[in-house]
Amino acid sequence: MKTYRIATIPGDGIGKEVVPAGKAVLEALARTNRSFAFEFENFDWGADYYRANGVMMPADGLDQIRDKDAILFGSAGDPDVPDHITLWGLRLKICQGFDQYANVRPTRILPGIDAPLKRCGPQDLNWVIVRENSEGEYAGVGGRVHQGHPIEAATDVSILTRAGVERIMRFAFRLAQSRPRKLLTVITKSNAQRHAMVMWDEIANQIAAEFPDVKWDKELVDAATARMVNRPATLDTIVATNLHADILSDLAAALAGSLGIAPTGNIDPEHRYPSMFEPIHGSAFDIMGKGLANPVGTFWSVVMLLEHLGEQAAAQQVMAAIERVTADPALHTGDLGGTATTAQVTDAVCALIEKVAVVA
Ligand code: NAD
Ligand code: MN
Repeated sequence: MKTYRIATIPGDGIGKEVVPAGKAVLEALARTNRSFAFEFENFDWGADYYRANGVMMPADGLDQIRDKDAILFGSAGDPDVPDHITLWGLRLKICQGFDQYANVRPTRILPGIDAPLKRCGPQDLNWVIVRENSEGEYAGVGGRVHQGHPIEAATDVSILTRAGVERIMRFAFRLAQSRPRKLLTVITKSNAQRHAMVMWDEIANQIAAEFPDVKWDKELVDAATARMVNRPATLDTIVATNLHADILSDLAAALAGSLGIAPTGNIDPEHRYPSMFEPIHGSAFDIMGKGLANPVGTFWSVVMLLEHLGEQAAAQQVMAAIERVTADPALHTGDLGGTATTAQVTDAVCALIEKVAVVA
């Protein structure tokens, strides 16, 4: 029997509620299964750790989780600690430290979810956004001088490298190729950003030649927002820079019904390091500590984690349980207009996983 070693990092806010829920789902799955087990180790890194130690995670933090098979992450962000400290001190440290350069964000309208687009059925919105996750606008390069003086200046320099763009384009084309429609849209802004984004377009063209069976097109990021709303069915796989994809994927999540449902994987496609899976939402200060967070985004992230481990059947088993639960309005949390609690949704998904397994 294979034992997968999983690091759980709940972090802050509702991360502390949804990560234990995700762990409960993996435990339910393990109870139904004789071919694999999980060994969890929890890390209490985040804003509380920062208040006690002055850093979001210990200096040797990456070494503590380096040999895990995967990481389940919650959220970094606290009402009393500046966001750039929480984000850079934990989540981005792991993403960059483990070179998780492909951030993958599937979006679908799950059964029973009331999505805002009136002329759009579930079959019209089935996307995967691939976000460049290691450089671009979030490269972290820049500086600030003359603070507080009238001559104060600050820069955030966006950096794209040929190696970085080639590897994310290749990843995106390969992913598009693996999906039924074999359709990729490359998001750009090469009209206004005339250096790096022009290189981005050129490399897209070059990599496209390696994938003659993938249909692809190019869309400016501003026009892409309108296309997502007006012609969602014309999109399938989407690749964009760090910032562009960050914004487009929140829009995608909202169009699919709620930020609380959307999952993401920060993936090292070469499997040199553990990949990290997390809901795309943040700490949700307005509902944290109340047991009201929607855990579905975390459960879907668990599905991605299982796929990454190569456990396709188990991934499908969990996804089927999620879809059975979203189909029941009595099991909708507040973000979906319902009154269910995190615990009720979690119990329902766990019960279905165990029930389906007994039948099977
Ligand atoms: P947010 O995602 O925390 O919340 C936005 C809105 O969506 C809130 O009204 C919230 O209640 C709702 N919401 C989000 N997830 C939900 C869920 N699972 N169930 C029900 N409702 C949900 O975004 P924000 O308000 O912009 O950010 C709050 C904090 O989280 C900030 O500190 C930010 O930096 C951080 N953040 C962290 C990450 C991350 O670690 N990956 C991502 C986004 C935001
Ligand atoms: Mn974001």
